[in-house]
Amino acid sequence: MAQGIVEQFLSIKADTDADLLAMQCGDFYEFFADDAELVSEELDLTVSTKSSHGSSYPMAGVPLSELTPYMKALVERGYTVAVADQFEDDAGDFYREITRTVTPGTLIETADSNAQYLAAIVRAAPATQSATADGGSDGAGPYGLAFADITTGQFLACEVDTAGAALAECYRFAPVELLAGPAVRNDDELLSALRERTDGSLTLHATDAFAPGRARHAVGEQFGSETADSIGLDSTLAVQAAGAILSYVAETGVGVRQSMTRLQTYTADDHLTLDATTQRNLELVETMHGDSEGSLLSVIDHTETSPGGRLLREWLTRPRRDRDELDRRLDSIETLASAALARQRLRETLGDGYDLERLASRAASGSAGAHQLLAVRETLALLPVLADEITGGELADSPLSAIIERPDRAAAADLQETLATALAEDPPKTVTQGGLFRAGYHEELDELLEQHEAALAWIDGLADRIKSRYGLSHVSVSRNKTDGYYIQVGRSQAEDVPDSFSHVKTLKNSKRFVTDELAEREREILRLEERRGELEYELFEVLRERVAEQAALLQDVGRALAEIDVLCSFATHAAGSNWCRPELAAPGTLDIDAGRHPVVEQTTEFVPNNLRLDGERGFLLVTGPNMSGKSTYMRQAALITLLAQVGSFVPARAATVGVVDGIYTRVGALDELAQGRSTFMVEMQELSNILHSATDESLVILDEVGRGTATYDGISIAWAATEYIHNQIGCHCLFATHYHELTTLAEHLDRVGNVHVAVAGDADGDETHTEGDDITFLRTVQEGPTDRSYGIHVADLAGVPTPVVSRARDVLGKLRDEKAIEAKSASGSEEPTQAVFDLGTGSFRSHSASETAETAETAETAQSTNASSPAATHTGETTTQQSATATNGTAADDPEIQAVIAALKSTNIAETPPVELMTKVQSWQATLADVEPTQTD
Ligand code: ADP
Ligand code: MG
Repeated sequence: MAQGIVEQFLSIKADTDADLLAMQCGDFYEFFADDAELVSEELDLTVSTKSSHGSSYPMAGVPLSELTPYMKALVERGYTVAVADQFEDDAGDFYREITRTVTPGTLIETADSNAQYLAAIVRAAPATQSATADGGSDGAGPYGLAFADITTGQFLACEVDTAGAALAECYRFAPVELLAGPAVRNDDELLSALRERTDGSLTLHATDAFAPGRARHAVGEQFGSETADSIGLDSTLAVQAAGAILSYVAETGVGVRQSMTRLQTYTADDHLTLDATTQRNLELVETMHGDSEGSLLSVIDHTETSPGGRLLREWLTRPRRDRDELDRRLDSIETLASAALARQRLRETLGDGYDLERLASRAASGSAGAHQLLAVRETLALLPVLADEITGGELADSPLSAIIERPDRAAAADLQETLATALAEDPPKTVTQGGLFRAGYHEELDELLEQHEAALAWIDGLADRIKSRYGLSHVSVSRNKTDGYYIQVGRSQAEDVPDSFSHVKTLKNSKRFVTDELAEREREILRLEERRGELEYELFEVLRERVAEQAALLQDVGRALAEIDVLCSFATHAAGSNWCRPELAAPGTLDIDAGRHPVVEQTTEFVPNNLRLDGERGFLLVTGPNMSGKSTYMRQAALITLLAQVGSFVPARAATVGVVDGIYTRVGALDELAQGRSTFMVEMQELSNILHSATDESLVILDEVGRGTATYDGISIAWAATEYIHNQIGCHCLFATHYHELTTLAEHLDRVGNVHVAVAGDADGDETHTEGDDITFLRTVQEGPTDRSYGIHVADLAGVPTPVVSRARDVLGKLRDEKAIEAKSASGSEEPTQAVFDLGTGSFRSHSASETAETAETAETAQSTNASSPAATHTGETTTQQSATATNGTAADDPEIQAVIAALKSTNIAETPPVELMTKVQSWQATLADVEPTQTD
């Protein structure tokens, strides 16, 4: 081996994709050259210099025993680190080989209690490439996905149809590392969306690992060849993703494949669809600002254990559609909620347990020490205690019994017994120096210990024996590192020792000797100690392997304890916050009595509100001033639905929740823009996703959608979306809008209704009434539309200068005068109804398009010109036609308005050149602007 250390390092480094290499050199792991510089910068290590073959290199090192924390720190900073261990060949030369590569997704020693998912994503071969042309990568499916948490053995795979659905899954699992399949690597759009939605680092794992044949082989090998079919994994894409993960895990050498005991497959039908945006909007596990504090999870999490916390997060982000499962959860929660003492005892017992799933993975990877196995033993010991509590008392009739009976209790007791008889009560941290096992566990070990004790006892008595035999008084026997065991005799008597004592050292006041017999005993002790260390390590490995073999059992027990923990947590929250059991129903109903927002109610004196959606009225337009509570009202509907489908109680006095297949929410660009998150473009893309994905069994929440653009575009988009959702999709929808004009849709679309969030002084509906007054938010949602424009009022309150505010009112009035929008009816005639803003009443009304031959043309003209649209022309015309509906005492009586209307009537839009038309419209506007504000009461 002529190669120097640094050359060895550099050649190993050249062969790995890892960012950094840690190479064992005796008792240290060393980094050299650039790696040393980088590591020292990241981790504050001291850099020294190593000379090799005439050159000198920077060098930084960490002791063997301290590699793990350094590794963790590096991986958390996004580096992958290869570890090369040192081996001795037959000739006694040292060589090094990479034994493990640590990456974010394969870090087994994590201290974070959250799940740590490694994900793989593959897309069908590029035959479908052209699909990217329409509306981004969303058309370009299907995709295969797999997610593995190597720290717990969780392993899931699925196939989804669109990039949006793939993103939603990635967002939900929040992988720390993502293996991108061959086609995905070239999909910049998807990659950048993934980067935006997850914090995971992207890894380019070998392309052929994703190949269907290779992947299927890997899956078959891991789970038994027939399993790929028996677990229902018939999606080649899902197999490809799962196979890539298995090969990657194998390649990194983390050694946890034994704890990856099952591959769960799931389909979109099992779960409620929650796209990534909705997950974020609803602030399930983190707020819009990315904090976990203030999220729904942070509010309802009363779990006692980290597996419980993980499971709660999983349930929350993956609500179900299976009513039987949901009812089982609700039954358990109901029982637990009313059995406070039993619940408290359960929680205390659970709190004494450890993370069995993680321990199983540590055992499988060979990184579990004696303390970890003790933790397994202690946690398994809780099983009978919990079972007694559950089956022996008031909880007996609940589905909790089935949960605690699910794991193989006999096997668990067996393993616990094995560990109890094997492990010492307080074993050392290292597993190579003995002291791990109890007496009586192993015959040879017992013998060794006996001999060892006998040898020690002989040494213990040696000083006394020498004293009495040779008549010496100053004699002691001790041991140190350099001299081993020695007999020390005081200087005054040093000359009196027998000849058999051979002198080793002279000190100031004494001399040290050894005898053949003592040396012999010493060798025996060393031999025994060495043998004991070896034997105990061997025995320990066998024991650890036994635990690893039982990975599936530990996962079962761990899962059962986690479920009980989560159910207790739900019950605790329900009891503490006065939540009720939701009644699950078939899709198409949502009936909430005195509902609250689960998070806002924690910090606010919350005003409860009712909500009822059914087949007759399934679409509500929610109006009301800024800050009145529209968004909160709608979110609370979504969250109550979601919580019910998580199997939790809900914040309401009573609730009937029809099980939905998906919840979709969009928040208008304005709110989102404020957080630098969105553009109008994104808002529209997301709206389009909803329109494509929602079904008649979905719940759609639109919050000020269309707001991120000029009024005309915005209102048109909102209008069209409403019609589409109502007519084509037919799902439940809540739509908060500041376009009051939309509220007239209720007259045209039979399932659309209006509600508004009341403010004080609302009843008289007088626009001038609130001017200069403070708005008092009542937070109660009432029937019917709101009839004022509070945006300007709020601007006023916020101190916007008076001339600006009054000018804004002016402009608003004009804008209102200019709208003519068609409402397409859901059924019946193909013919559009035209809703027309009536100058007389100040509201929209409708008439059939056929009544006016110019309708279509007018609408077109309205779209093709700018804000001062000649649509006003049309308005005047219809006003006269429908003046019978005008309310009394309106501005329509004003002679100036009558004059404008007359002028409108006499104008033939089709014949008038655009520029002339514009001029006319402007002059009419000027006239109208001088008219006093309308008094409608
Ligand atoms: P909007 O969407 O109408 O602008 P939000 O829903 O954002 O209004 O609510 C504004 C504020 O009012 C929020 O801070 C919220 O906490 C509070 N709020 C909303 N609804 C209620 C309610 N029912 N009871 C008490 N406070 C509420
Ligand atoms: Mg809002």
